[in-house]
This record gives sequence, structure tokens and C-alpha cells, in this order.
Amino acid sequence: MLADDTRTAHLFNVVVAIGNDPMPRDELHRRLAIIRNSNVIREGIESAQRVALIGQVKWGRVNFDAVAIHDISSGRSSPSTTLITTGLPLSRNHTNYKIAPSILSADFARLGEEVRAVIDAGADLIHFDVMDNHYVPNLTIGPMVCSAIKPHVGNTPIDVHLMVKPVDAIIPEFAKAGANIISFHPEASEHVDRTISLIHECGCKAGLVFNPATPLDYLDYTLDKLDLVLIMSVNPGFGGQKFIDGVLPKITEGRERIAASGREILLEVDGGVKADNIAKVAAAGADTFVAGSAIYGAKDYAAAIQQMRAQLR
Ligand SMILES: [Zn+2]
Repeated sequence: MLADDTRTAHLFNVVVAIGNDPMPRDELHRRLAIIRNSNVIREGIESAQRVALIGQVKWGRVNFDAVAIHDISSGRSSPSTTLITTGLPLSRNHTNYKIAPSILSADFARLGEEVRAVIDAGADLIHFDVMDNHYVPNLTIGPMVCSAIKPHVGNTPIDVHLMVKPVDAIIPEFAKAGANIISFHPEASEHVDRTISLIHECGCKAGLVFNPATPLDYLDYTLDKLDLVLIMSVNPGFGGQKFIDGVLPKITEGRERIAASGREILLEVDGGVKADNIAKVAAAGADTFVAGSAIYGAKDYAAAIQQMRAQLR
């Protein structure tokens, strides 16, 4: 398989998902349709290269589901399949999973301290939920608070999630306040493409956010400009809600679209993620996990983050 085959990444994502969590045969068929229906996996590559490529995959365990993948996708034997079925030890340095504690669940009276505490505990991003009592029925924090926590985050990026309508006017304010990533909901912008460009012009990475009932169609003409896709697994507005299982296939569709784009785009999931469901969210295709109450509601933040990471191995 060649690195310039964007769908190669998709196939490996499927393999990783199965490594994490075996899935029924019909689900395997569905996920592999994108590969099977297109002759994009080219042959004639040296075995050594295949070994190297597979070695980059986080391989939870060598199992017979992997054999099923090959049988379904091509029906032929190949060196890569042989490697998997013979159980060659493979390294596990794949997906760079990111944990993004949401400060929505922090103690606002001690916010600087709370931000430093989750960073010390192993947070990869600080997720910053902005609610405006208009687009969503709640009112939280704005650019002044972003600016106030900036000196406390060090090199950890601030991942601003704007639940604000209209959204454009506040974007430069957050960029000035130290935001690194700014995401918005397409329903909150009259001109989605223009808002993405505005975020980039302000020097930030841009993300688009999808409510549970918002279709991913908005990615049709925007994915090539995005740095992050954020899929909501609760309806936005409040912390502490329960994860909606119905969004799992949507996460997978998001992963398939990102893989097909060939671009490096984070796939973040926000809402009700915790240690006991993070594995299935990752198996569906997510690589970045927002967690509010699951971390800030715990006595020991490091233990809470560690528990989540343990489920991702
Ligand atoms: Zn959020």
C-alpha cells in the first residue's frame, strides 16, 4: 500500500478499531466498502515496507478479526495478511490520542489552579466551552477568561468551542486572548466558509462542530480547510449530560471522510465521554476526547485521565 493512497489510512483505522473492539461481520463489511469498492490499494510493494507500515499501527492484539478483514477486502492472501495471522509482534505507537478536559466543569473560583492541575495530570488540550444564552440556553465564559487562563497553560493549546450566534465578531477576540483552536457550529454562521477563513486569518486552527442532529453534509465543501471536526455526543448547553450512543456511526462517517481527504484533521468528540465509554468512542474513529465532569468531577485528575488512557491501549 502506498502512502499517497488516502484510503490506506482508512483501512488502517478500521484495523485499529477492530484491534480495540471486535465488531460484527456486517459492520466490518460496511466499514470496508470504501476500500473494497475502489481499486486503490496498489500491489507490488516490498514486504519490508508493509512490515514498516503495519508496525506503525497501534495493534491491541493479534486476532482473527484481522484475518476477516483481509478475506473480506480482497479474498486473496498477501504478505501483510500472513504477518498478521502469524502473530508477528508489532509495535504499538499509533494514534496520538488526545484528552481535552473541559473547564466548564472546573471550579471557576480557582480557574488558573484548576487549569494547571489538569495539565500536570496529563491533559493534551484545554477545552474551553463558550455558551451565549442565545445559540444555547446557558451562559459561560468569554475572551477575558481565556486571556486570564493563558498564562497558566504553558504550551498546552486552548481549544475554544464557540456555542455563540452570531459567531464572527467574537473570533478575533478569542484569537487575541490566546486561543489556539477555534471551533464553531455551522448553524451559527451565515457564511461557514468565510468564518473558517476568518479563524485562519486570526492565526488559529479552525474546527466545525456537529450537533447530534446536524448532518455531516457541511463537510462536503469545507473539509479541505478544516483542522478539526468536533462531533457532539450530547446536545450542547450544559455539562454533565449522558453520551448519546446514536452518534457512534456518525463518528465513523467523520473518520471515513477525514481518511478519504488525506489531510491531518483531529476528530474530537464532546459530551458524556468517560473511562467506561471512551474505548467505543475511539473504536468508532475519534482521536480527541473532551471530558468535563469525568475529570473535574474526580478527586484525582491524574488518575481519571490515566483511567481513560488505559482504555485506549
Ligand atoms: Zn465543548
